[in-house]
Amino acid sequence: MSDLLTHDEYKALAEGLTPASTSFVDGSFRAAQSGATFDSINPATGKRLAKVAACDAADVDYAVEKARMAFDDGRWRCLHPSARKDVLIKLAKLIKRNRHELAVMESVDSGKPIRDCATIDLPETINTIIWHAEAVDKLYDQTAPAGEDAMGMIVREPIGVVGAVLPWNFPLLMMAWKIAPALAAGCSVIVKPAEQTSLTALRIAELAMEAGVPRGVLNVITGDGPKTGAPLGLHPDVDMVSFTGSTETGRLFLKYAAESNLKKIVLECGGKNPAIVMDDAEDLDLVAEHVVNGAFWNMGENCSATSRLIVHEAIKDDLMRHILAHAKEWHMGDPLDPKNHLGCMIDSEHFGKVASYLDTSENGNNIVTLCGGKAADGYVEPTIFDQVTSASRLAKEEIFGPVLGVMTVTSIDEAIALANDTDYGLAASVYTTNVKQAMRAARAIRAGTVTVNCYGEGDATTPFGGYKQSGFGGRDNGIHAHDQYCEVKTIWIDLTDRAA
Ligand code: NAD
Repeated sequence: MSDLLTHDEYKALAEGLTPASTSFVDGSFRAAQSGATFDSINPATGKRLAKVAACDAADVDYAVEKARMAFDDGRWRCLHPSARKDVLIKLAKLIKRNRHELAVMESVDSGKPIRDCATIDLPETINTIIWHAEAVDKLYDQTAPAGEDAMGMIVREPIGVVGAVLPWNFPLLMMAWKIAPALAAGCSVIVKPAEQTSLTALRIAELAMEAGVPRGVLNVITGDGPKTGAPLGLHPDVDMVSFTGSTETGRLFLKYAAESNLKKIVLECGGKNPAIVMDDAEDLDLVAEHVVNGAFWNMGENCSATSRLIVHEAIKDDLMRHILAHAKEWHMGDPLDPKNHLGCMIDSEHFGKVASYLDTSENGNNIVTLCGGKAADGYVEPTIFDQVTSASRLAKEEIFGPVLGVMTVTSIDEAIALANDTDYGLAASVYTTNVKQAMRAARAIRAGTVTVNCYGEGDATTPFGGYKQSGFGGRDNGIHAHDQYCEVKTIWIDLTDRAA
């Protein structure tokens, strides 16, 4: 579905947007009970897109009450799985029908380039919903090897009311990663989008209603972390929170669960992802294309962004020549212009944080800027630093911007040790033609996804999540995601023939 429109067509669509701006609970749009709002800003223009409802604990209580009622009376969870499937597939079709509007809304709300919104985020959102919908009437539960005198059934049941707390970097796709398996499993969901990017979540809730998702089953409450996210995390009647965001905020959700009802917590957090390129890697031009894509896609505002290039010294010069050539092809500018690969940073606070990593005085004496290095007006040039030391901020901290640090090694063991020298463990890539070396690295690197001779995150069929401080408690995508929105119940039946 690479049906890109022209820049003018996208600008016209952006002009015509009339985004909803209040929370969506129990099938209706609702202002915050306090009447409070906050501005949703287009980061590329600085213009206000909407005054969005600033929900607080009272609004969270109302949403949880309605979601609980919908769960308990079984209006969704007791539907035949094939009926839930039909509704979710209808939702996917409605998203597809409205894809241009949604892509533009996503782009203006987040600064993401329209070419990515239209050709990656929207198709993947649709695909994720279809995949989980299609799975739900094909999943069988189990019986245990209980012998002749008993039957042990192991059945999945939807976990209940789920809070889905989202980041701003892939607003639609992260919402789909959560709501598709949760709704397919029969849960009620309360989505809390990031305050920077509320608009597409509200539109999806509206489309879900049109598709036939019953009232109260999919709700969206807008607002910031402390006033909206915290009461959701602390709520005693929420059974689970599935969170994607920073490791720092993820920790808070573990605390909220401990302080309230021990709700289940699944965290998808940050990353500091390495790409290892060994001296026997094939087609260095293609490797370079993958590395550049991994580092700069979505302006590096990507949990699985390649931010450390660990390269064998024998091929380093050759590889860097290809990398610099590819980096030049990445145009930066107006996110609504489909020729641009890089848009702007999400907001001025994040822009300031990313720009601080460009200050080479902070990064050791030998650091060399190979390309980029400048930041202005919300835009950060794709930047590559060479001779990054493993102790520096560039090597240790999640930058969440288009900044790649290069480190040189002479062996696979040295490369693996550097790759693992981080508190994170989300994703990694290994480029080598030696299958034993590739498998050794894939096994030894402590990360949830290791790609060999490519960059990526797998697809809807494969679990995605992190080791170490990149994640906790579960995985998005694949059947693993479905299962994490379920409780597992044992039903043990005595079959003893007492008359015998
Ligand atoms: P964030 O942690 O600032 O915010 C995430 C969500 O948590 C937002 O909805 C926010 O409002 C909420 N929140 C913030 N403070 C809170 C509080 N005190 N209590 C309750 N809720 C609170 O993250 P972000 O800046 O929106 O997103 C960027 C981060 O997300 C990066 O670290 C990135 O690596 C991570 N991320 C991870 C994945 C993954 O799958 N592992 C995917 C995308 C993004």
